[in-house]
Amino acid sequence: MLPGGSVGLLGGGQLGRMFGIAARRLGYRVHTFAPSSDSPAGQISDVEVSAPYEDLDRLAEFAQDVDVVTFEFENIPSASLELVENLRPVHPRPEVLRICQNRAREKEFLTRKGFPCARHSLVKSAAEAAASAAMMGFPAVLKSADFGYDGKGQAKLRSAAEAAEAWERLDAPAAVIEEWVDFRCEISVVCARDLSGKVETFPVSENLHRDHILERSVVPARVDPGIAREAQRLAVDLARALDVVGLLAVEFFVRRDGSLLVNELAPRPHNSGHFTFDACATSQFEQQLRAVCGLALGSPRLLSPVVMVNVLGDAWVGGEPDWAALLSDPDVKLHLYGKSEALPRRKMGHFCVLKPSVEEALRAADAAADRLFRRADGDPGE
Ligand code: AMP
Repeated sequence: MLPGGSVGLLGGGQLGRMFGIAARRLGYRVHTFAPSSDSPAGQISDVEVSAPYEDLDRLAEFAQDVDVVTFEFENIPSASLELVENLRPVHPRPEVLRICQNRAREKEFLTRKGFPCARHSLVKSAAEAAASAAMMGFPAVLKSADFGYDGKGQAKLRSAAEAAEAWERLDAPAAVIEEWVDFRCEISVVCARDLSGKVETFPVSENLHRDHILERSVVPARVDPGIAREAQRLAVDLARALDVVGLLAVEFFVRRDGSLLVNELAPRPHNSGHFTFDACATSQFEQQLRAVCGLALGSPRLLSPVVMVNVLGDAWVGGEPDWAALLSDPDVKLHLYGKSEALPRRKMGHFCVLKPSVEEALRAADAAADRLFRRADGDPGE
C-alpha cells in the first residue's frame, strides 16, 4: 500500500498521534477510530471517528474507508477486531493482540514457546491467590490478567492474608501471581517485522520507573553488550514466534546474574521507544507504518545517545510547566500530546535530550527537568 493510501488506526492516544504524524509525513491519509473526540491521534488525523469500539456499524463504515488497519491500543474487544479483519487487512493480526492483551495468555505463550519469564501461576479466587502466593514465597506480585498497564491492577504481597485482600480489591475474574524478581535493571527492545518476515531491532533502552510508571529511558542501555544482544535476539525470536507484522515491544528484567526474563509484550509502539523519533534514522512509528503497508523497513540506526523523559500531569501542580526554559538547551526535543486535562499520572508529553554520551544526556536531562518543573536545587517538585 503506497503513499496516498489511507491507514486506519484503532485507538486515539499519543502512540497513535506519533504514528499518524509519521504516516502523514510519508503522504498517507490517516483515519482514527477512538471512543473520545479531539483525541491526541484524532487531532492530527484526516478523519476522526468518535464511537465506542463496540459500535460495530460505525466500525464497519470506518474499515470500508481505509486500505489497511493497525492499532495503538491493546484493549480492543475481540469481536470488534474480528469484524474489521473480515473487511480489511489488520496488522499485527488480531490473534497477537489477543495473546498480548491478557497476562495469563501472554505467560502461557511465553512458557509454551520456551521464553524465559518469572515463575507464575494463574489464580481465580482469593483462596487460590493466597495459596499460590504462599507457594511462590514472599514478597510476590498479584497482577490482574486483563487491562493492566503502568502498574494498574497490581499489588506487592507480603503475606497470604495480603494476597487475599489484594484479590478482593482487584475485582477481576482472573489474575496472575508472580515471583518477586530481584532485578539489576529493566530494559526493553522494540523490533519491527515486515510482510516478508524480515526483522529490524531498535537499540536497547534502559528504563527507569517511578511509582510503576516509566520515568526515563536511557539509550544505549548501560548493560554489557552481550546482554543487549541477547535481549535483541529474544525480541526477534518472539516477533517470529508470534508472526507479528508491525511492531513488537518486549520488556525485560535483567537479573543480578545478567540473565533476562521477559516481563511484558506489546504489539504496538511503546513508551520506551519514543526516543526513536528523535534519535534514530527511522522511528518506531514510521517502522510500524512501513511494516503494515508492506514497504521495506527503514534503518533503526541510533544517531545519538539519548535520554527520554516522560512529562506527567503531576507537573502541572505548580501551574503550566516552563516550556521555554526547557527548550533553552538546543539538544532538547519536546513532544506534547494535545491532552486538555493534566491529571496526575497521565502522560501529557515527553522530551528527549541528545548528547554525545549517555552521561552527558543524563546530566542535561536532570537540568532540563529542573528548569521545566522550576525545581530549586535539592527541592524536588516543590
Ligand atoms: P508491569 O505492568 O508488569 O510492567 O509492571 C510494572 C513495574 O512493576 C515493572 O516495570 C517493575 O518495575 C515492577 N514489577 C512488575 N513485576 C515485578 C516482579 N515480578 N518483581 C519485581 N518488580 C516487578
